[in-house]
Amino acid sequence: MNIAKVIVDLSLDKAFDYNIPEELKGRVHIGVQVKVPFGRSSRRGYVLNIVEKSDFDSPLKDIHSICERHTKIPEPLVKLGRWMADYYCCSREQAVRTLLPRAVRSGKVKHKTLKLFSVVDTKEAEEFVIEHAEKKRYEPQLTVLRTLLRHKEVSQEQLLKESGVTISPVKTLIKNGLVSEEKRVVRRDPFADVTIIADQPQQPTPEQKMALEKIYSMLDDVSEKHTLLLHGVTSSGKTEVYLQAIAKALGKGKEAIVLVPEIALTPQTVRRFRARFGDMVSVLHSRLTEGERFDEWSKINDSLVKIAVGARSALFAPFQKLGLIIVDEEHESSYKQGEAPRYHARDVAVLRGQMENAVVILGSATPSFETYKNAVDGKYELAELKKRVDDCLLPSVKVVDNRLGALDNDKPSIFSKMLVNEVRGRLEKGEQTILFLNRRGFARQMMCDHCGYVAECPQCSVSYTYHKKRESLTCHLCGDVIRSYVRCPKCNAEDIRYSGTGTEKIEAIANAIFSKARIERMDSDTMRKTSSYEAVLNKFKRGEIDILIGTQMIAKGLHFPNVTLVGVLNADQGLYIPDFRSDERTFQLLTQVAGRAGRGDVRGEVVVQTFNPDNETIRCSVAQDFNAFFKYDMEMREALAYPPFGHLLAVHFRSEDQQLCSNYAEQFMQHIRPLCHEKVIVTEPAPSPIERVKGKYRYMIILRGEKIKMLRRYIRRMILDTRHPKGIDIYVDVDAQSLL
Ligand code: ADP
Ligand code: ZN
Repeated sequence: MNIAKVIVDLSLDKAFDYNIPEELKGRVHIGVQVKVPFGRSSRRGYVLNIVEKSDFDSPLKDIHSICERHTKIPEPLVKLGRWMADYYCCSREQAVRTLLPRAVRSGKVKHKTLKLFSVVDTKEAEEFVIEHAEKKRYEPQLTVLRTLLRHKEVSQEQLLKESGVTISPVKTLIKNGLVSEEKRVVRRDPFADVTIIADQPQQPTPEQKMALEKIYSMLDDVSEKHTLLLHGVTSSGKTEVYLQAIAKALGKGKEAIVLVPEIALTPQTVRRFRARFGDMVSVLHSRLTEGERFDEWSKINDSLVKIAVGARSALFAPFQKLGLIIVDEEHESSYKQGEAPRYHARDVAVLRGQMENAVVILGSATPSFETYKNAVDGKYELAELKKRVDDCLLPSVKVVDNRLGALDNDKPSIFSKMLVNEVRGRLEKGEQTILFLNRRGFARQMMCDHCGYVAECPQCSVSYTYHKKRESLTCHLCGDVIRSYVRCPKCNAEDIRYSGTGTEKIEAIANAIFSKARIERMDSDTMRKTSSYEAVLNKFKRGEIDILIGTQMIAKGLHFPNVTLVGVLNADQGLYIPDFRSDERTFQLLTQVAGRAGRGDVRGEVVVQTFNPDNETIRCSVAQDFNAFFKYDMEMREALAYPPFGHLLAVHFRSEDQQLCSNYAEQFMQHIRPLCHEKVIVTEPAPSPIERVKGKYRYMIILRGEKIKMLRRYIRRMILDTRHPKGIDIYVDVDAQSLL
């Protein structure tokens, strides 16, 4: 085996052959980062494969050298990357790049080392201090020794600060053998300031026990099914099942990965894993500094930890003895990456599990249809937790028909009479309320009543959202912001009207109706920083907030026993988004929000306001009946051949030039049309539902159906190998989660 196939850090989707020179034999393996001559310079690259013979006739160049040891990718991950490149139609470099954090790949971030000082021998040091203090000699050295005697070991910075001396007496002490210095790698710990109280496994409930038994037997023998869906209602103890499953895997000498959606990756979540497994847990999320990310990754790579908890990219934790992968809230669309490679972490998790003989647990209260179908069809094991822990009841749900009008004639109708009364009742009893509306800002639209002018973003085909407090109009797609108008910019009339209520307006109305209540709002406008998010949640937990108003930011994963009421202000909001998953999303969101109510001793209540009380999705959500909803919506999907019946693949075209965009999409279509067999449904190139974003027009082609592997391969080649016209971006989204 003399030839290494290397991909360099250019997006060429091609591996180049290099000779392995004599002095590097035995050290070049798959996944190792190497330096190779390339053109007139040299480049870094990864070894994808090692083979006997090259397909090239011309003499090969030698590999230059091997890069630092930390940048080796475990071999199974290299394979996974190759699969991702093919399946998600991206270049191999893009796929390999996601396997490693940038901090590691670049080779620029290093371990942080610290100089630590300590006394060599306590008795000797004490004698020295006693002897010379009497003679009033070497005062600086004595101060240093006193400082060191107070601590076990002290960093240079702390030592000089505490003793108020220069480095020179320290050096003298080292020279004389009284003090030793040591360089040590320190790990930057992203959750160092989180205090954690160790906890013990809970006695499993009968349902948890059944789930765990299935998981244990899968861990004992992975050969049959290796994926299990844990379908458990909110607060049914899914996390406790994960914790005990992990303990079992660790007991077998294996390692575990836990994926949670970024939004749920709060210190609250991390704390639960740390409380059970202490410093065996490494945490990976998007807010880490490069240095922290490097350290977390290195801890895994050096086998110093056994569990990685993190968002999407934690899936690529370089464990060598992976036994278990958990994907919590597996239905979350944030598991799909929005840029190349557009991979779905849940699906890739199932694949990694299969490749490395690890058990995969997918957990959710509202499983995705893809996963649930796999469980129903017997491809996955299924375990259900139908009851909440401690038999605490699921909340009761009341529906208010929004069409029946306003509270009073002079009050806006977004608060129904029933909701207002329920909130008042909670305020009297000192219980807490969550009000949910999935739209931020004050109003969705600013319109002139006189001439009909609507303020729209000039770069995107959406109207500006009005933010009252900041007196601004902003575009939620591109971030553009302008000052709000007092008069219509077109006809100069003062008849400005705002429609489409957002959370900011809800807050204003709530403040007016419940004037004595303590109200806070939580959305991405008020929560710019993680720390403010934490601060509000802590305040809420301490009971210093009566009513918390928010967007989906408050819908997920929060535990507050004193919340006994959840108000959903407009349940229909997501229903009419032109996407075949809009009903599924609505059902998931309503179920999650409702799950926030009643986690303590009092049964929770949910008030759902809707304009469509007869809509089947709303009805199933209100009844909290997943199976009924699944049955209903699956019929529709099957009839229209949408996933999980067959695959879906979207080809996107973007350009500032509308004509170019539409023409090129049509031209592309000409190429693939002949390849579409009768089991493939193709929509003609058409503008996306949101036609223009950030000044670019958007067109797309959607392909769906069965047996599209060949077609996908062909499209991949077309996208990667063709020289596309200037000024057009084109990409494929395989298993697209959003069609906007
Ligand atoms: P989920 O992940 O399904 O929302 P959790 O695992 O967070 O549910 O459980 C909800 C609450 O119940 C947590 O406070 C958890 O500590 C507690 N809990 C879970 N399992 C048990 C058990 N077997 N016995 C007692 N308490 C439990
Ligand atoms: Zn815009």
